Amino acid sequence: MANKGNTKTALYPGSFDPITKGHIDIIKRALDIFDNLIIAVAANPAKDTLFSSSERVKLIRGALGDDERITVTHFTGLTSTFAQKSGVNAIIRGLRMVSDFEYEFQMALMNRKLVPEADTVFLMPSEQYTYLSSSLVKDISRYQGKIECFVPPNVAEALRKKFKSKKR
Ligand code: ADP
Repeated sequence: MANKGNTKTALYPGSFDPITKGHIDIIKRALDIFDNLIIAVAANPAKDTLFSSSERVKLIRGALGDDERITVTHFTGLTSTFAQKSGVNAIIRGLRMVSDFEYEFQMALMNRKLVPEADTVFLMPSEQYTYLSSSLVKDISRYQGKIECFVPPNVAEALRKKFKSKKR
């Protein structure tokens, strides 16, 4: 997809295991700034995830519905290599709290070295999502807690199914 004419495209990479309302908040903000957004699930085989990369892609697509400005895909290897290959203008990351900062700062500077043409843009979610993470949602769901206010309906359903089948 990359850049057609004067349009600006950003890449939003992440684990998205699974997508939450916090991610969706960032996606909406990114689309207010950029014309197109590539949401890319990092399919790192060394990382232990609850959902496979194709399940994570499917959950993102199901949560966002049809929007021609959005492409959902997955990638392996370095984010910088994928950003370069995709020809994006920027990399989007979400900043929730100060605790995110150190790691994100290091990554952003490293990625700038590797792919100078795509700067990292940090976006902050609405305050109600600043404490929200995929791992917290998984923990709550694992013990049958209520997750509907944190994730879209298709993800809540997938989490319920996943933990039901894991118990058997
Ligand atoms: P990663 O393993 O790459 O951190 P995540 O799916 O946890 O993957 O996060 C992807 C990006 O989305 C990160 O920049 C993270 O800070 C951001 N993010 C995750 N949850 C939220 C949230 N609740 N609000 C804002 N940004 C978030």
